[in-house]
Amino acid sequence: AHLDRIAAVDGQVNAFLHVDRDNVLAQARAVDERRASGAALGPLAGVPVAHKDVFTTRDLPTTAGSRILEGWRPPYDATITRRLRDAGLVILGKTNMDEFAMGSSTENSAFGTTHNPWDLTRVPGGSSGGSSAAVAAYEAPLSTGTDTGGSIRQPAAVTGIVGVKPTYGGSSRYGVIAFASSLDTPGPFARTVLDAALLHEAFSGHDEMDSTSIDRPVPPVVEAARRADVAGLRVGVVKEFAGDGYEPGVSARFAEAVELLESLGAKVVEVSCPHFSYALPAYYLIAPSEASSNLARFDAMRYGLRVGDDGTRSAEEVMALTRAEGFGPEVKRRIMLGTYALSSGYYDAYYGKAQQVRTLINRDFESAFEQVDVLVSPTTPTTAFPIGERADDPMAMYLADLCTIPSNLTGNPAISVPCGLADGLPVGLQIMAPVLGDDRVYRVGAAVER
Ligand code: GLN
Repeated sequence: AHLDRIAAVDGQVNAFLHVDRDNVLAQARAVDERRASGAALGPLAGVPVAHKDVFTTRDLPTTAGSRILEGWRPPYDATITRRLRDAGLVILGKTNMDEFAMGSSTENSAFGTTHNPWDLTRVPGGSSGGSSAAVAAYEAPLSTGTDTGGSIRQPAAVTGIVGVKPTYGGSSRYGVIAFASSLDTPGPFARTVLDAALLHEAFSGHDEMDSTSIDRPVPPVVEAARRADVAGLRVGVVKEFAGDGYEPGVSARFAEAVELLESLGAKVVEVSCPHFSYALPAYYLIAPSEASSNLARFDAMRYGLRVGDDGTRSAEEVMALTRAEGFGPEVKRRIMLGTYALSSGYYDAYYGKAQQVRTLINRDFESAFEQVDVLVSPTTPTTAFPIGERADDPMAMYLADLCTIPSNLTGNPAISVPCGLADGLPVGLQIMAPVLGDDRVYRVGAAVER
């Protein structure tokens, strides 16, 4: 049924980069056989999932939305890919994304833009926009994403679905094409909080192949999503995330969500996190710095594309030609920003300063969580914007992640749940919790999702 739905609507939505019908049906048959032979299978066995094209897959191409990886077949499965297979989920295909997960709209994909199913002239968010659109368009009940600065929560918010960034280190990065290694966090998309919790539980947990993976039990997210109550919980409204730049419809839906929390028995207070305003500029030094280092591996020798290797050019010339042709403009911008911020003489002033800001943001979170159990804000300042509107304006594009970036810089878990419509377009409520308190965002999210 999902393959038929993809065939019917993906020509317009463009959520998927690769779908291999025979491969999907073979996976489904294999799950049936496991079941018939009496294998113990989890609650998601046989359920289809759309998989972001940033996770390596042995049997399907993996491009990370980039020309430079065109034609590359990974020799191994990402840990999360393997865990999806072990749990019996059926991978429907790989979803579109901004190149190397850099963006907020999927317009930076080398393979065309994904369209928001609510209004095909608008963006589905990004970078995991193919994954959000696939679930919102009923092409898949579940999908995977990665969130480095908001790439799960922002697309979830603007397509009216649930998206979760787990605690950093709670989900494995092994086999995830790296963008900014100290920030990259895989997580689930679904149409309900409980569905997201089931997928979270299926693929999270310690992985010895990832040196930053946390060796602790997965927080009880499914139990928390089933519990779905907020009575007696202290909820902090982040004071700094309101006012100028927030669409009136977004502010109105957010205010209603806060009233709903109160009516369900939560104690709501305003909390100040004074350094959150510096999160965006700090992120745009740290993320490009890490990216400039991570992307050095695309040297025309090891992966995919190779340009100009005709026997007359040096390895260095071939590398330069390949990177010039294989990377898109936003990726090149990030490599230049990061290389500059890390260069000697500037390192202390830019990268070093940004790391200090990161510590201050962490302290804001710590002191906030001495007063409240969770923090809430709008997920994004605006609803889905028109395709093309911000494509040539990187600063406007970067603002989409204003509210999501603090939790990436510190590793805290956060969820986006739908909280109604503004002018017919979905609005998201963000709920943030202390590190390893992932169950809390599911508990509160399930109580207020609409
Ligand atoms: N939009 C942000 C960026 O372009 C975040 C992307 C992400 O979370 N992968 O860097």
